Amino acid sequence: MGLLLSLLLAVSAVFGMELKRVAPNIYMAEGGYGLPSKENRGFISNAYGVLTGEGWVVIDTLSTPELAREFLSELKKIKDVPVLYVIATHYHMDHWFGIAPYKEEGAKFVAHANLKEFYEDGSADMVLEGAQKAFGVFGSVKLFPPDIVVDKGMKLKVGAEVIEIIPMTPAHTNTDLVIRVGDYLFVGDLVSYKRIPFLGDRNVSTKAWLEVLDRLEKIRFKKLLMGHGKPAGKEAIRWTKEYITFVREEVRRLKDEGLFIDEVKEALKDTPFKDSKMYEEFHMRNVYSVFNELDMEL
Ligand SMILES: [Zn+2]
Repeated sequence: MGLLLSLLLAVSAVFGMELKRVAPNIYMAEGGYGLPSKENRGFISNAYGVLTGEGWVVIDTLSTPELAREFLSELKKIKDVPVLYVIATHYHMDHWFGIAPYKEEGAKFVAHANLKEFYEDGSADMVLEGAQKAFGVFGSVKLFPPDIVVDKGMKLKVGAEVIEIIPMTPAHTNTDLVIRVGDYLFVGDLVSYKRIPFLGDRNVSTKAWLEVLDRLEKIRFKKLLMGHGKPAGKEAIRWTKEYITFVREEVRRLKDEGLFIDEVKEALKDTPFKDSKMYEEFHMRNVYSVFNELDMEL
């Protein structure tokens, strides 16, 4: 009996993608924490479905076509209407590598203009190849370019819903979009709470990112719906600011004292943020990246 129960629990932990209703017409699939692995199947990020009078609008695809198909089938259980648009908050693998099933479904893919360039200049394929070798879960990923590109703000009218798409880049990457649906703000990885944000993208600008966070703080909203973690309030913006500011100020101070990168890394191993999720995975890379970024800012 005990064995059967634990088997059942194990099965549902692996296969069950449970959707949570986070607003009257918004549903989320909440990924776990970690880097993609065979064990977590790459389910390490969130996806959202917004139900409109005409069909679904999806925000972020999840990491793989398999996960995206599961998410789609859960959405269809709630209401069996087509997905009209799928919007990627940015170009990281856990946010758009699951694009294929949406394209098969006939959805229009909406992303930042720089994601299209990233696709067209071959960078996306290179990143995919690297990810396939490194993580072992991206074997069936097939990438597509966006059908609709955003470089200035735009509004999508879908049924009675107005979906506002606001580029806020460069920041976490050079492809960041914020999506506003009523009182809800989808912020991708621009904001996180007690989970270390990744500051190591090749197009990151932590300086501009802090300005984006100031901008976000001035927008009125009921909840932030993030790329990772549960719905949050303004405390998440403040927390993200605190971490980025801390890394920037500490790296700058140690650099000014004449320390080399390895010494800076050693000095910043242990910080007040060490109990946050993804600290092991991201923090040292962040220190390294910010060290180089500060060189460029001079
Ligand atoms: Zn990201």
